[in-house]
Amino acid sequence: MAEQAIRALLAGQPDILWGFADTAWSPYAAPYPTALVMAVPYGEQLTPEDYNEARFDAGIRAAKARIEAILPQIEEILTAHEIRCWIPPVAQRDEAELLAPFPFKTAAARAGLGWFGKNDVIITLRYGPRVRLSAMLIDAVFTPGTPIVQSECPDDCTACVDACPCKALKNHQWTVDTDRSEMIDYQRCNRMRSAFIPRLGRKSACGLCLTACPVGR
Ligand code: SF4
Ligand code: SF4
Repeated sequence: MAEQAIRALLAGQPDILWGFADTAWSPYAAPYPTALVMAVPYGEQLTPEDYNEARFDAGIRAAKARIEAILPQIEEILTAHEIRCWIPPVAQRDEAELLAPFPFKTAAARAGLGWFGKNDVIITLRYGPRVRLSAMLIDAVFTPGTPIVQSECPDDCTACVDACPCKALKNHQWTVDTDRSEMIDYQRCNRMRSAFIPRLGRKSACGLCLTACPVGR
């Protein structure tokens, strides 16, 4: 019943990609065997020609606002069915490892929403990587999507790798066994984005490797 109610709610938001993932791979599997994962398109699908950082950041914030409006509605459904749930934080635990407690990207691939591109973010067929991911962990077993276990990036595409101003991307084709360090020098990316804190009061959203991706155009 709760699963059907969530499916009905999300059917009313046809531009949002979503799916359920089995969390057996995660340390949260015992209390929460299912993750709902959503991929909300950025407010603007910018191209390299019309990119500017402020617009890109605004597009991310618009997607974030939509997620913040939908998650309580899903929580309400689950609570009404006496099913526990938890919204894991988006924020990374610290600046050393730069890992969030629950990896939304892994969950998205497990839910069948997309694959890890050479830019180390989830590539969806409909929007490429220009989506904001969100997840909710659920103490119930719902019907999972079909996991995606290898990259569908063309071997000869290097648009994201070439777009990165600090050469953080390693031009590596992902499979489910790939370690993040094979794909990206995360510290290098973070250092570049953090260098904007004095000017912007926040890290740069950057995203040049996202706007460059031809998938979903
Ligand atoms: S976000 Fe920017 S710095 Fe980081 S990998 Fe992408 S293009 Fe490079
Ligand atoms: S730009 Fe090309 S290589 Fe990079 S994520 Fe997109 S399809 Fe994959």
